[in-house]
This record gives sequence, structure tokens and C-alpha cells, in this order.
Amino acid sequence: MSSQQVERLPEWVTLLRAPNAGPMTLDGTNTWVLRAPHAREAVVIDPGPDDAGHLASIAEHRPFTAILITHGHHDHVEGAETLSRMLGGVPILAADPKHGDPLPQRTRIAGLDLEVLATPGHTADSVSFFVNDGHAGAVFTGDTILGRGTTVVAWPDGDLSAYLSSLALLSSYEVLMLPGHGPAQADCAAMARTYLAHRRSRLEQVRAAMAAGAGTPEAIVAAVYPDVDPSVRFAAEWSAQAQLEHLRRESQRPPEQLDPL
Ligand SMILES: [Zn+2]
Repeated sequence: MSSQQVERLPEWVTLLRAPNAGPMTLDGTNTWVLRAPHAREAVVIDPGPDDAGHLASIAEHRPFTAILITHGHHDHVEGAETLSRMLGGVPILAADPKHGDPLPQRTRIAGLDLEVLATPGHTADSVSFFVNDGHAGAVFTGDTILGRGTTVVAWPDGDLSAYLSSLALLSSYEVLMLPGHGPAQADCAAMARTYLAHRRSRLEQVRAAMAAGAGTPEAIVAAVYPDVDPSVRFAAEWSAQAQLEHLRRESQRPPEQLDPL
């Protein structure tokens, strides 16, 4: 996978990595604290798990304007309500009303310009944040693009067709990428293109497996992901289900509506 890791983050970003490493979370959830050099208040993206030590290390950066959520998976939002209480009722903002108040499309926060990019696919509620300090920008991708490896399209909430469109959108952001798990990457656009190429080649493999008779998620996993680690086999089956659904939908569309992807 083509990637270029980042040695130093901009001065307005602090990474606090949660102690929840695992097969689905890589080294742990990345919690990002943002504050422009002369801003009084900070903002936090994805508080992560409800872990007392982790939440205390976030709270050290108070005062906060808001807690922002990239998507509703528990390893990103579980600690949000506890953190909000610790900070005296700071609002939680999320795309899914189950997890917070509505996100503004564009806002000035923590001395920075922030724009919400709808990037569904990993989950229906996934968003990315494009943040700009007036000189340079960065995209916070949540689990839509990780710092290494690939992400899961968490069918049925996740959707591969939407996911491919989201990757196409992110492939126009030639700026720093700060993901929900794994290392920062220098070029979000390059990572998005690598992810798109990977998904397209997987879809080719799935088409070939279906042509050879595989019709169930289990059969697709056996054909396309033969070496999958048993602990993440369920995630491979979600992805296979999403691939089958995407191809089924594609086969029902008239040719002029097919994705250029
Ligand atoms: Zn997730």
C-alpha cells in the first residue's frame, strides 16, 4: 500500500491514543484534540472508549467548545457522555442523533475552520472533518480510511456503493490525513486512491468467485479472503455481504447509470 507517514503533526493537533488496541482497532482509537495556537478553547474528535485514564488525559486540555464524533462505533463514542459530564456539559455533536446534537456543515471552532464531509460507507453515519488553520488543512477520516490496512464496510449499516463514492470524494483532498486508527498519513488523496484501487480489485475477485459458483458471504470469504484471521472473520463476512449487495444492485441498473469507479 502506498503510504507516507508523518513525522510531525501541525502545532494545533494533539494525538491521544486510547489504550484499546485490538484486531479491529489497530494500536487503539486515535483521539484528536484541536486548538489553534492563540485560541482559548479546544475541540476533541472521537473521545474513544469509556476509560478513566484516557478521558482524564483529554480533560487536561480543557476548556472545550465541543466533542465531535466521526461515527457511532463504540470504540469512538463510548466515552463521550462521561467526558461531556467531566467538562461541565460540553455538547456532543454527531451525524446520528442517537449520539449527539446535529453537526454544523461549516463552523469556526478552536480558532480553526471546520467543514463536515459526509463520507458514509464504513457506517451510514460516518463523516470526515476537513480542518484548516488558514495555511494548511487536514482531513480527519475516522474509520473511513485508516492509517494502515483496510477498513470494514460494516454491512448492513455500511454500504459499499456509498463507500466507493466517499473514497472518490476524499481522493480530491491532497492534504494531511489523520485517521481514527493507525498513523497519520501525508496525503489523504493518495490514501483514498489506494483504497479505491484495493476495493476495485477485491470486487473483481468477488465477480470471479461468483462466476465460479460462490453465492454466499461464507463462500466469498473462502474464495477471496482464504487466509483471514479467525478473530476478524466476521468482519470479512460483513465485507463479502456488502460486495454481494453492491454487485447485485449494479447488475440491476441500466448501463448508463453505472458508476465510473
Ligand atoms: Zn468504526
